[in-house]
Amino acid sequence: MAKQREYCDVAVIGGGAAGLTAAIYCGRARLKTVLFEKALPGGLATYTSEIENYPGFPEAIPGTALMKLFEKQAKRFGVEFKLTAVKQADLTGGEKVISTFRTDYVAKAVIVASGGKPRLTGAIGEESFLYDKGISFCATCDAAYYTGKKVLVVGSGDAAIEEAMFLTKFADKVQVSVIHDRGIVDANEVAKEHAFANPKLEFIWNTVVDEFRGGERLQQVVLKNIKTGELSPVDVDGCFLFIGYLPDTDLFKGQVEMDGRGYIPTDDNMATNLPGVFAVGDVRVKGLRQVATAVGDGAVGGVAAERYLAEKAYFDEQIMGGSCPTVVYCWNPTDPVCRSLMSDVEKLKEKYREQVKVVNVDMYKAGSLAARLGIQQAPALALVSDRAVAYRALECTDVRAIEAELAKMIG
Ligand SMILES: Cc1cc2nc3c(=O)[nH]c(=O)nc-3n(C[C@H](O)[C@H](O)[C@H](O)COP(=O)(O)OP(=O)(O)OC[C@H]3O[C@@H](n4cnc5c(N)ncnc54)[C@H](O)[C@@H]3O)c2cc1C
Repeated sequence: MAKQREYCDVAVIGGGAAGLTAAIYCGRARLKTVLFEKALPGGLATYTSEIENYPGFPEAIPGTALMKLFEKQAKRFGVEFKLTAVKQADLTGGEKVISTFRTDYVAKAVIVASGGKPRLTGAIGEESFLYDKGISFCATCDAAYYTGKKVLVVGSGDAAIEEAMFLTKFADKVQVSVIHDRGIVDANEVAKEHAFANPKLEFIWNTVVDEFRGGERLQQVVLKNIKTGELSPVDVDGCFLFIGYLPDTDLFKGQVEMDGRGYIPTDDNMATNLPGVFAVGDVRVKGLRQVATAVGDGAVGGVAAERYLAEKAYFDEQIMGGSCPTVVYCWNPTDPVCRSLMSDVEKLKEKYREQVKVVNVDMYKAGSLAARLGIQQAPALALVSDRAVAYRALECTDVRAIEAELAKMIG
């Protein structure tokens, strides 16, 4: 059976803080916006028990509560949520095709907000106990299950230390495997201070995971001392890994440019190497991966997508889509040469009134429109016919060359 096809202006892939924010901006701009989320809207921020550093919530807010507000706001602006995984994305053409199990969505612009996936230890047996079998990545989601039980946390960054402390509210015993020497963790000073003062937390220094053991569920984690090589089995009911994240970008490989680790480089407008494709949040190359920065990216990416669509529509309809030849004058109103050439362009327009359409492009406001015509500097003229640039007069001081070409064209 042929797949269904649906159309939208913007497809947002990923419903974390970045994707939801981008969707809010696109929805509010009255663009038909479809957001795809393969798990639950909210993304990584919902893994966080308390967010203390997102502005506007001085008493801290649970990640799930904050993300619910984002979702509610996106829905208010008419964003359509598709709670399904994007299986394939063809992003190279003018029309982008986003494929889910049942439907192909054709979008004019795409915002990649697929965030990251947890990094694994690579230890023996790990794959057998992932998620509901004892290895978890989300204290908020799973802490209650470990009430009165024993858990091991692996990692020493902000997430590891803060989530380990959260786990002490539920579990009887929380041990933390840290790769560094005694007393050294990578977390912020406040978290470190609280953690070292917490009697329910026990640190196991200089260790990495060597093996995960158990039956149906995880029962034991074997730690290896990186200095002595000594192996020590730790009996556990569950293990939480907080050793970093990797970008979830496999879907876009070979199309969107990436760095060696799979992160997507963008310009200041969140634009990727592909026209009409933007990347926001943890998925892109950046210095700080937080909710606040994901939100900033989402806002910029949403507005950039809106501008891209407006410009594309203008280019397709006004510049490329005319039924007669179109003369495009790329100018800069503050430049005297450009201003004096404008009167010649106006005369040309008058002379060929019925046969030609004239469009002025202000390079200051819409330089990227001119760039689409292969023009970087004003003044310049382009002659467009049959949806293609037939002639360019670069660094021109009069309209003679373009008029000669025009005359050949219209006879
Ligand atoms: C344990 C932990 C604690 C943290 N604590 C804080 C904190 O206190 N303060 C703070 O500011 N930040 C914190 N962070 C960081 C913060 O959560 C992230 O930087 C932020 O949530 C990133 O948002 P994002 O939208 O870029 O990505 P994500 O939140 O990762 O969202 C990406 C979404 O895309 C979806 N997705 C991926 N691929 C597909 C696909 N093919 N189809 C459909 N959907 C897809 C995923 O399911 C996911 O929901 C913490 C992170 C962790 C892990």
